[in-house]
Amino acid sequence: MVAHKLPQHGTPEPQIWSELTELENGDVNWRNGRLPGFFTHFATSDVERIGKEALQKFYSTNCLGPGAFPSIRRFENDVANWSLDLFHARAGHASITSGGTESIFLALKTAREWAFATRSGLTRPKIVLSHSAHPSFDKAAKYLSLEVVRVPTRGDFRIDKKAFEKEIDNQTVLIAGSAPQFTVGVFDQIEWLGTIAIERNLWLHVDACVGGFFSPFAEMVGHPIPRWDFRVPGVKSISADLHKYGFTPKGASIMALADKTLLDYLRFDFSNWSRGRYFTETFSGTKSGGPIAAAWAVLKFLGVDGYCQIVRDIWTVREKILSRINESNELFIYGSPEIAVMSYGAKTTSIEDIGRGLATRGWYTVAPSPNPPAINLGIISLAFGSVVDEYLDDLDGVVNDIISGKNNYSAGEFGNYGD
Ligand SMILES: *Cc1c(COP(=O)(O)O)cnc(C)c1O
Repeated sequence: MVAHKLPQHGTPEPQIWSELTELENGDVNWRNGRLPGFFTHFATSDVERIGKEALQKFYSTNCLGPGAFPSIRRFENDVANWSLDLFHARAGHASITSGGTESIFLALKTAREWAFATRSGLTRPKIVLSHSAHPSFDKAAKYLSLEVVRVPTRGDFRIDKKAFEKEIDNQTVLIAGSAPQFTVGVFDQIEWLGTIAIERNLWLHVDACVGGFFSPFAEMVGHPIPRWDFRVPGVKSISADLHKYGFTPKGASIMALADKTLLDYLRFDFSNWSRGRYFTETFSGTKSGGPIAAAWAVLKFLGVDGYCQIVRDIWTVREKILSRINESNELFIYGSPEIAVMSYGAKTTSIEDIGRGLATRGWYTVAPSPNPPAINLGIISLAFGSVVDEYLDDLDGVVNDIISGKNNYSAGEFGNYGD
């Protein structure tokens, strides 16, 4: 029976723990690596432990009181400065938010305020994106009453420049590109977007939520990464999630501005109530300093060398997946994924059947994406890296079963992204 009422009497601690453990046992066991591509970023058990312990140590702090908790201000400043340096910002500012969605929300909010302050004739501000952009843009636009235009991509999943430019009009305040896209994993043409932004006086936001803490290190270890950061003229803001390839505990992302003077459009500064001045530069009010302390601890523990090593390890897994799938007669990779996020499709069989087949073989499978029909694979966990050969063998097995008619895997269940 579902309990609808808070129990009258407290519950003894041992029972609390046994109930928590029982519920935890129903969750997916991501540590065995059989959750490919979604939800839990994991590098090593040391990184996980250090993040967790720092989170716990500072979980009672409150970011609204930087005077009371100078430790949090220090962590925040360090993490912001390290990030700006990685993204090649010379005069920038970075805020630490709770996640990519909040970073993107703040970018759109800042762009909107900047446009209202510096332009006239805006009545129905709009933003123009490629169809591949993350849903959080539309989510933010809903809150901010911005119109969203999504332009279908080219065949290689990058921006269709002509069609994109056609949608830009005198109400457009922001254009955005992904570096890279969440699903197919290709980078939009950020340098081209930069020239358009400068020409037409638009805010260019680069969504590097997934790639922001991978690409700089991939570049350092010698992989060709398209230009995406503040080195590109015209980029005004960048979102980059620490809790993805930064491998820090969830609840930490960077929203970076190219120029400190843009802070005026980001900040909320208010005095018209009983308590006097109240100002913040992110969306939340009260929030724990724990995720920021944890991000600081993980970044400092790994350093550039540590991240470069993780990138090398992930790259090995990436190459394994790419070469096995490219060898297959039935499967193929969409576009040219530049980092560790990719999607594969099937030539003659249904990708849904393949997904169900993988689920039958004990791989927790998130529903394939419909457009294009694909199974998304981000190498977000080195726990998956340790069982990737088994995954690729099972994938071959499932495809062979379907093609030979041995099993069509028409039954089975998927999980969802954001459900
Ligand atoms: C994950 C992601 C987001 C959203 O970030 P959350 O941390 O889930 O709020 C936005 N854009 C891209 C490209 C992402 O990968």
